[in-house]
Order: sequence, then C-alpha cells, then structure tokens
Amino acid sequence: MRKVMGIFIILIFAAVIIVPAMIIEGIRLFQPPVQVQAGQQLVRVYFHQSDDIKIMPLEQYIIGVVAGEMPANFEPEALKAQAVAARTYTLKKIEEARNKPDDHHPSADICTDPAHCQAFAADDVLRQRWGFFNFWRYKSKIQEAVRATQGMVLTYQGKLIDPVYHANSGGRTESAAAVWGRDLPYLQSVSSPWDKEAPHYQATIAFTLEEMDRKLGVNLKAVPAAALAPSGGTAMKVLEKTATGRIKTIKIGNKTFAATELRQLLGLPSTDFTWQVQGDRIIFNTTGYGHGVGMSQYGANGMAREGKNFAEILTYYYRGVKIENR
Ligand SMILES: [Zn+2]
Repeated sequence: MRKVMGIFIILIFAAVIIVPAMIIEGIRLFQPPVQVQAGQQLVRVYFHQSDDIKIMPLEQYIIGVVAGEMPANFEPEALKAQAVAARTYTLKKIEEARNKPDDHHPSADICTDPAHCQAFAADDVLRQRWGFFNFWRYKSKIQEAVRATQGMVLTYQGKLIDPVYHANSGGRTESAAAVWGRDLPYLQSVSSPWDKEAPHYQATIAFTLEEMDRKLGVNLKAVPAAALAPSGGTAMKVLEKTATGRIKTIKIGNKTFAATELRQLLGLPSTDFTWQVQGDRIIFNTTGYGHGVGMSQYGANGMAREGKNFAEILTYYYRGVKIENR
C-alpha cells in the first residue's frame, strides 16, 4: 500500500511540477533567436570568461546588465533607474570605442567584467542563480524596467554622462573630485539616508599583521602594538579625510596609501572605516559598500519604496542631468 502511495505521489509531482516545467522549457528552446531589426542599435560585447565576442541588440544587452548589476527583488523604479544608467554607460563606451578602440578588448565596445566595464548575466547564469520559477518572475520584471525606459539616457549639457554607481554609500555619497581627483558637476556629494537600513551598511574584516605585511608590502610585525592604535599610533595613521568623512590618505608602516588603493589591496567594502588592534590582528569596521560616487543602488531602492520614480531617483543622485531619448 505504501509503495502504491509513493508512486502516486511521484506521479502527482510529475503532473504538477515536472511536466509543465518541461513544456515551458521546450517552448523556450523552440523560440527563434532575437531578430535584429533595421536601425536597431547593436553592441559588440566581449565575454571575458569565455573569451568571445557577441553582437547583441542594445536593449537585449541592457536586460542582462541590469540583472547582473542590481538585485532583482529591488523596486521596479530602482530597476528602471539602473537600466537608464546602464544604457548611458554602454552608449558612452560605444562612442569611445569608435574614436579609440579599448586596449582590453579592441574589437568590442564593452566587456562583461564588472572590474573593467559592467557585469552582464546571461539567462543560464540567471536560471541557476534564481531557480526555475523565480527566473520567469524576475526576468520579466527586469525586461519590463528596460522596456519602460527604452532608449533613455542621461546627459549633462547635451553629452552622455559617466553614470557611476555603487551599492551603498553609507549615508552620504562622495564627489568624484574627492575619490578620483576629477571634478564633475553632476557627481557631487548628496545625502543618502536610505542606505542605513540596507544590508552591506556595515561590515567587519580582520587581517593578521602578517597578512597586512604581505598584501601591503610593509612590516607591521616589527612595530610595537601601541604604534598601530587608531588614536595616537604612529605606524598606522589617517593623514587626510574627505569632506564626507571617508579616509583619503593613510600612512601604514613606512608607506602612504590613497584609501582607494588600500581598499583594493585589502578588499575592503569601502574607504569609510575605523580599526582596532586585537593581539596580532587588525580589525577594520567599514560603513557602506563601493566607492560612494554617483547613484547609491540601495538608496535608489529606498527612494523607490518612498514612491519616487526613476527620473526623480536619477536626477537626485546625478545633479543637473537630463533624461533624453537616443
Ligand atoms: Zn571592458
């Protein structure tokens, strides 16, 4: 009797879950590839992991970028803001590649390496990340955000802007001048209080002195512990802070580091940090996630939750910009 029940349950499961799933997957497999229409903007995308170039319609590419760069459970208006930022960045890269091919990918406009250009998540990656049912839900949500903003880009005085963004500013975004030393009128510091309720707001990362020495090429092991103390220490000392309180330059051992460089070398979430010394370890407490310049993604989500639309979000984080159709 038990055996019969078991088979019965398996059959029910097959009828309700597996068979419909196979049918949907089957339909998807037989769908024709995306047709390229005349006049449609194309983008040459270098896939850095598989080392090949695919030519894709712009709007289709943007769907994969939004999926790769922003959590899909974010508010629709935040996803739309991300889509406009991603499209602006892509068209800017296409323009630049036309004038001077990129050294990293001379035959492509843009690449899928987030450390170089911007992330891109293909369907097979998303299906794994989201699972079968969420794939359909999230994919159509992102498709809708891209479709609703089709062709829209951000300009300042008629030119495409550099639409940089980060995950979480920690409460106040940073100006481009403070982080990269180039002042851009639309990349100024603005308050972003929504970030404080988000994940990644604060983090703790510890390194042994040995690890610090190896990663930074210094010799902290030879230094007395008191010299590493956050206040009054001579071997680890903040030299300069930015207007928003992030660290700009710091002395460690006998070297001076730009905080952005230190962040990269140690893999710190942000340059807004304090530290403590515990035995032979240095513990960093960081606030925010990312360089802090431009749009805060968690801030965008917070604004959307408060009822702001994508245009209000974008013109808040990028001051003085216009949303144009290209
Ligand atoms: Zn690239």
